[in-house]
Amino acid sequence: MPLSWLTARTQFMDPLLAKIVFVFGFVVTNFVIRTPYIKAHKRLPIRSNRNTRLDTSLFIAVGVFGFFLPLLYVFTPLFSFADYSIPRWVGATGVVVLVSGNWVFWKSHKDLGGNWSPTLDIRQDHKLVTRGIYQRIRHPMYLSLWLLVIAQAMILPNYVAGFAGLLPFGILYFQRVAREERMMIEEFGSEYERCLQKTGRLFPKF
Ligand code: SAH
Repeated sequence: MPLSWLTARTQFMDPLLAKIVFVFGFVVTNFVIRTPYIKAHKRLPIRSNRNTRLDTSLFIAVGVFGFFLPLLYVFTPLFSFADYSIPRWVGATGVVVLVSGNWVFWKSHKDLGGNWSPTLDIRQDHKLVTRGIYQRIRHPMYLSLWLLVIAQAMILPNYVAGFAGLLPFGILYFQRVAREERMMIEEFGSEYERCLQKTGRLFPKF
């Protein structure tokens, strides 16, 4: 079968649609879900903080590469040199990944409630959450961020804007997750160790 026949038959993701999905699915939804928790985070006192300069830099890198750079792609022609075509079925699967990621993002915020913070913190009145989505997965919020950066790569038909979030978030995740678990063991001892046995890091344990 000639290659030209195959490419002629492949349907591609419409770049305008991809941009609209990005603005609503990533930017608007994330702000809507997170805003009330940011307010609570500012209000509820913190007892101990393990944030490092590396954490802050990576956090900023995820914001820049996962949000602002794709927004530049959406609203300016700056990255048009890196445009390419994404088959429509890949984009559609990306939308399913995006919706799932947003749901897990919302659910983990809801279940963590006032115990959530963007950095590694223990609050004055910190409670270990072992219910809801935390009953089977111990890092559902990080799972949701993985899903969102993967969806970004599947939906945006641009090499720069699509893949920009994966590396900074990957580094943030791998340098943070074990430290967070150590912090939780120091704070909650055997209660958190039980969590380690009962749950998976990103994939549910049954
Ligand atoms: N790693 C978790 C939470 C991310 S938010 C997730 O991916 O869902 C980071 C903050 O959540 C940390 O500062 C820690 O204090 C808090 N935290 C993490 N797991 C928790 C749990 N099971 N119960 C209560 N707080 C938790």
